[in-house]
Amino acid sequence: QNEAAAGRAALEAYRGRKSVTKSGKEILLCANIGSPADAELAMKGDAEGVGLMRSEFLYLGRDSLPTEDELFQAYRQVAEIMQGRPVVIRTLDIGADKQADYLNLDKEENPALGLRGLRLCLAREDIFRPQLRAIYRASAYGSLSMMFPMVASPWELRRTKALCADVRRELAQQGYPLGDVPIGVMIETPAAAVMADQLALEADFFSVGTNDLTQYTLAVDRQNANLGEFYDPYHPAVLALLGHIAKCAKAAGIWAGICGELGADPKMTETFLQMGFTELSMAPGRILETRKLVCESD
Ligand code: PEP
Ligand code: MG
Repeated sequence: QNEAAAGRAALEAYRGRKSVTKSGKEILLCANIGSPADAELAMKGDAEGVGLMRSEFLYLGRDSLPTEDELFQAYRQVAEIMQGRPVVIRTLDIGADKQADYLNLDKEENPALGLRGLRLCLAREDIFRPQLRAIYRASAYGSLSMMFPMVASPWELRRTKALCADVRRELAQQGYPLGDVPIGVMIETPAAAVMADQLALEADFFSVGTNDLTQYTLAVDRQNANLGEFYDPYHPAVLALLGHIAKCAKAAGIWAGICGELGADPKMTETFLQMGFTELSMAPGRILETRKLVCESD
């Protein structure tokens, strides 16, 4: 206990500091959150922003869809709590491991390969549009970006961007103040990883979901505890995709980050820096220890 307390105290030296390597490489260390209450934890954890707001938590544990206004209030609160630091809202990622019974979605044989994430949103504009309106409305109160989960093809991004532009136009006509909202892609399917060069031409940033990218690359169910050692995020195939994603982002002049569990893995910090990732997003409690590692890296 004494040792653990001393370790925690030592980490306090890294609070309020930038995350810069000895050779001057700077990286943003952000928090993964699911609610405005989590944003408070992100600030306590000294996060430099929110790299992943899992927005589906606002849709779970209730009997009906949240209204546009409810969503707007939640996003606005997060933007304000983060005081101008960048906040990336991941649009609704319902399906597979996250189900909302009130949506009455068809039972699927393979939910992980089913109508989930952005696919569901594109099929159900009645669900998606209110969320997009809420994000744009909240953009006037901080520094918001949005990104889409489970993208596999450039046309999905194009169609979604067209919808975003339409929603934005509508809000502007209605007189809402709007901030700039960069649009990113979660890279979490092998198809998106392989086609990162093309996606980079139409995205403002990438954030890699290593949990799903590992699952889909290795064809190993991330929720099946019996698969243990087969679920290997360090598998050379996954690492090759990560390197490729970072390279494509750099070539296109956009930033790339990691928001899956691997983002907080101390064994990977140096590798991510070398690959060229410039943002890591993780549980708020992991930020100071990761900053220490970054500051001690070359
Ligand atoms: C991921 O897949 O790595 C990710 C960050 O998203 P989620 O864990 O919510 O699927
Ligand atoms: Mg995912």
